[in-house]
Amino acid sequence: DFSVSLPKLRKDEMGELGESIMILAHDLELLKNERDEFLASISHELRTPLTYIKGYAEIARRKDTGVEDLDKYLGIIHEEAVKLSKLVKELFHLAKMDENNFSIEKEPVHLRPYLLGIAEKFSLALKENQMELVLNCPDDLYSCLDPIRFEQVILNLLVNARKYSDPFTKIMIDVSEMNSKLHIKVADQGKGIPEKDLPRIFERFYRVEKSRARALGGAGLGLAIVKQLVEAQGGTIHVTSRPNVGTTFEIIL
Ligand code: ADP
Repeated sequence: DFSVSLPKLRKDEMGELGESIMILAHDLELLKNERDEFLASISHELRTPLTYIKGYAEIARRKDTGVEDLDKYLGIIHEEAVKLSKLVKELFHLAKMDENNFSIEKEPVHLRPYLLGIAEKFSLALKENQMELVLNCPDDLYSCLDPIRFEQVILNLLVNARKYSDPFTKIMIDVSEMNSKLHIKVADQGKGIPEKDLPRIFERFYRVEKSRARALGGAGLGLAIVKQLVEAQGGTIHVTSRPNVGTTFEIIL
């Protein structure tokens, strides 16, 4: 139980130890609130798809449900089950990272062919949206990184860039070296992120427009995973954005 209540003392009566205890109690209280909020978010996110699945399965089982409706309901059930399994996968991933229960295996990577490979895998999804990916990366750049984890970082950013952009727009991946640091930018020409939301978008479960983002299939965990994976490799990530102009994520390694 974190709710420690201390007798009210004046500052000069507390002494150093008393003051430290007050600070600790305050920190523990904040942690408890954070944990409660996290659990509430998880249970909400799990419950929403389950409610749809239960509801539509119930109507699908009615004797008077026509074949066409049945097909529609099964489609919704499938869609929600996919969301649920993505969410469980993401939560598992975050939990493993929290426990430091995953290893980063770095190796030298030739960046241009590596990024072209990722772009190639993503090209079908982009084609569906009539979008285009432009890669700008000099051929002589190498980096020491975990190729599997870093692919997940780039893919999560590409998935978002696609999700929050209109057809016929472009996504740019731009790589350069400055002061022996690598700068990898993933930029889109999409709907952008309001300035007030920018400081919070890497938080778990944070979404700019909850209902819209959910309809697009996100629980708000993608960027939290990205940030954790980048930092685990010793890098940093920043975002700049202008509503209706586009968003740029910059990773510095
Ligand atoms: P989600 O699964 O909802 O996409 P993320 O953690 O990946 O969650 O992103 C958090 C929120 O940040 C999203 O809900 C979206 O509102 C916003 N966002 C992320 N990337 C972009 C982008 N490229 N353009 C516009 N908004 C974005």
